[in-house]
Amino acid sequence: MLRRNDQLEEWDRAHFFHPSTHMAQHARGETPTRVVTGGEGVFIRDRDGNRLLDGFAGLYCVNVGYGRTEIAEAIAAQARELAYYHSYVGHGSEVSITLSRMIAERAPEGLNHTYFGLSGSDANETNIKLVWYYNNALGRPEKKKIISRWRGYHGSGVMTGSLTGLDLFHKAFDLPRAPILHTDAPYYFRREDRSQSEADFARQCAERLEALIVAEGPDTVAAFIGEPVLGTGGIVPPPAGYWEAIQAVLRKHDVLLIADEVVTGFGRLGSMFGSDHYGIDADIITIAKGLTSAYAPLSGSIVHDRVWEVLMQASDAMGPIGHGWTYSAHPVCAAAGVANLKLIDDLGLVGNAGKTGGYFNKVMREALSGHAHVGDVRGEGLLCAVEFVADRETTRFYDAAEKVGPRVAAALLERGVIARAMPQGDILGFAPPLCLSRAEADTIAGATGEAVKAVL
Ligand code: PLP
Repeated sequence: MLRRNDQLEEWDRAHFFHPSTHMAQHARGETPTRVVTGGEGVFIRDRDGNRLLDGFAGLYCVNVGYGRTEIAEAIAAQARELAYYHSYVGHGSEVSITLSRMIAERAPEGLNHTYFGLSGSDANETNIKLVWYYNNALGRPEKKKIISRWRGYHGSGVMTGSLTGLDLFHKAFDLPRAPILHTDAPYYFRREDRSQSEADFARQCAERLEALIVAEGPDTVAAFIGEPVLGTGGIVPPPAGYWEAIQAVLRKHDVLLIADEVVTGFGRLGSMFGSDHYGIDADIITIAKGLTSAYAPLSGSIVHDRVWEVLMQASDAMGPIGHGWTYSAHPVCAAAGVANLKLIDDLGLVGNAGKTGGYFNKVMREALSGHAHVGDVRGEGLLCAVEFVADRETTRFYDAAEKVGPRVAAALLERGVIARAMPQGDILGFAPPLCLSRAEADTIAGATGEAVKAVL
């Protein structure tokens, strides 16, 4: 046991450059340093003795919950046996090959070939390169543009930050615009025409996508990328019929579909993949977080046979693919993945995400829907969002300075529950571990109801 280090906060402010943090406020000590020391199940502990119900599973990634010794032991055993060997020029470890097989067994039909990375961002960088390689291999060098959606989140790299359609991730960085284009978010609650039906809205999203492809020239558009349920952009399940209509447009114009399942992969919606849930026939699926439940960093691009065949055959002419990460298929991370996927099966967590997720969304709606400033309570599986409005009739937002989400999140924390004030809009997000029980779902809903009343 380490002795409590009272200099830790001072060192933190002096040396630790935190991601997604207001640097000046943190340096001035206005945002506290929370030193997290442990966790079991859906709870984390900090060094001040707080025990908090983690309603966001870290960053929607600790899907099997904290403190799983099965995964910890698998990691330790692999580190003792073989901590590292690379996977270039056909090398592999037993666990990385086994994991690629386990992913193929769980992924939708035809998605059989996994290129491993370490983060959702690098997997999406890989996807862009694979799509470009694919069109070069097919002799279509002009077909390179990638369409993403406003409010989509696909990472923080240079290209993936450009794909991400959220202001915060663009401003002050001068990220490249071309060859990235954006189309409408399937965000029915924020539709321009309040009288529009859900079906008409879904059709309009597909029509606008098609108009963009036609205006740019279908011969220049390579791929469309989307999360089955918009995550960081506000936890927005798609309107009925959306994915069917989008896929019809993509097929018509020979545009590949990348399903970014970094959040939805491995059970969060109550189906193994969001693609299963919504009937998405993806050419490439991005996976990360739930692959190891964040016990070790690992991601992947799962490539469909029909794309793989083109890439593979092209290599006779083009040579080995010039794309590699030192830590691709890192054995210790792969061991975490194998143990994690077994645990998800053994504990029936995909089924639990569906059942307890349905219950969780119901109790959240019951606790909040009547409130004058709660505009929407929406979700799917173990994802839920509460959207605050100044006026329910017009769905007008609060002004930036009056935002409610961060204040409710703070009031919830005082009640022992962690939720996430989403970066755009005025939205409080929940994505608890997939092992959540009904009693824990009741605790979150009860505390959220109290927190909203305390703030508004
Ligand atoms: N794609 C989606 C849908 C995500 O939600 C995220 C992260 O939240 C990413 C990609 C990026 O993953 P990472 O933070 O591991 O780079």
